[in-house]
Amino acid sequence: MRTVTRGDGVELLQDGRRVVDFSSNDYLGLAGDPRIARAAVQALTTGSTGAAAARLISGTQAAHVELEREIARFKGTEAALLFPSGYAANIGTIQAIAGRRDVIYADQLNHASLIDGARLSRAEVRVFPHMDLAALRMMLAADANAFRRRLIVVDGVFSMDGDIFPLAELVAIAREFSAWTYVDDAHASGVLGVNGRGSAEHCGVEGEIDVIMGTLGKAVGTIGAFVCGSNVLIEYLMNRARSFIFTTASPPALAAATLEALSIVGSEPERRTMLRSNARYLRARLREIGHSSMGEDDGYIVPIVLGESDRTTSVGNALREAGYLVGAVRPPTVPMGQSRLRITVSVSHNASHIDGLVSAIAAVLN
Ligand SMILES: *Cc1c(COP(=O)(O)O)cnc(C)c1O
Repeated sequence: MRTVTRGDGVELLQDGRRVVDFSSNDYLGLAGDPRIARAAVQALTTGSTGAAAARLISGTQAAHVELEREIARFKGTEAALLFPSGYAANIGTIQAIAGRRDVIYADQLNHASLIDGARLSRAEVRVFPHMDLAALRMMLAADANAFRRRLIVVDGVFSMDGDIFPLAELVAIAREFSAWTYVDDAHASGVLGVNGRGSAEHCGVEGEIDVIMGTLGKAVGTIGAFVCGSNVLIEYLMNRARSFIFTTASPPALAAATLEALSIVGSEPERRTMLRSNARYLRARLREIGHSSMGEDDGYIVPIVLGESDRTTSVGNALREAGYLVGAVRPPTVPMGQSRLRITVSVSHNASHIDGLVSAIAAVLN
C-alpha cells in the first residue's frame, strides 16, 4: 500500500510526488466536495461520532432512517436497507435469501463479494460465461424444478471490464423461468441513467429487478452500501442478513453526508454529461495513439488489456513515475493472461490531465 493525500479534485500527493489519479471510483468528483464535508461536520457538532450499537439494538438514528427513505425514493423501490459496505451487503443479502435447496446463477466476472456471498449461502452455484444469456437460459432450462428458489446474480456494470449487463433481456429470461434477479450496482449508482438511478434506469427496467445492491463509496463519494427492493425483502433482510444484524451502525454523520451527496447527484445531472464526454475524449485520444480500450465509447471504466501481469505492473509503475496513477490489475482480480491497465475517468479531469495521460501511455507502451 502507498499512502496518499487526497484533496478535492484528482491530484494526489503520493510519497511526496504529485500524481493525477486515474484509478479511483470517484466518477462524479464528489469525494472531496466541500458541501458534503460540511454536512458531515454539521452532524458531528450536534450529534455523536459513533452510533455505538448495532441498528437492531440502539444504533438506528434519524439520519439512518432518513437516508434509507431517500435511497428508496431515489431508486424507485419500496424500501432500502443500509450496510456498512458493499462487501457486507452482498455477503449478507445473498446468504439470507439463498440456502441449501436453492440455486444461484452467477456471471463468470461477478465481483468477489458476490462470489463469497454465494459460497456462504451453501446454495448450488452455476457460473455462466460472461454475459452469455443463451448459456444462462440453457442452465435454467436444464434445472427445471430441481430447486426451491432460483437467483440470478450479476454486476450491473462490471468493475474490471466496464461493460453493462443487458438487464432487459435478463428480466425477460428470469420471468420465463420464475427466477429472482439480483443486480450489484456498485459502479452504476449515481452514474448510469439520465437521473443517475443506475443500471435499471439505463436499461429501462426500473421496478423490475427483485434485489438491487448499490454502494455509496464510489460515485456517491462517502462510504457504505444499500440493498433496495420490496418492503417484504427489506424486513426479511433486517431479520436475516447476518452482516446487517451483527455489526455496529455506521456513524450518523456519514448518513448526513450521504444525504447531501445524493441531493447533489440528483440536482447536478451535468456531472454525468461531463463524465461521459471525458470518457469519449480519452477513448478517442487512445485510439489516435493506436490503443483500443474495452467497452462502450462513453464508458467511464477504460480497460487496456496488456496480457502479462509482470508487464502490466511495470507499465503501471512507469506511468506513476510519469505522474499518472492508473490501476494495474492482475489475477485473481481478472483472469490469467488478461492483466490490464484499468483507467477510470472522473468529471474532475480536464483535457490537459487526459492529454498528459495519453502522452505518457504513448511514451511507455510504444
Ligand atoms: C466495490 C465493489 C463492491 C464492494 O463495495 P465496498 O463498499 O467497497 O465494500 C461490491 N461489488 C462491486 C461490483 C464493487 O465494485
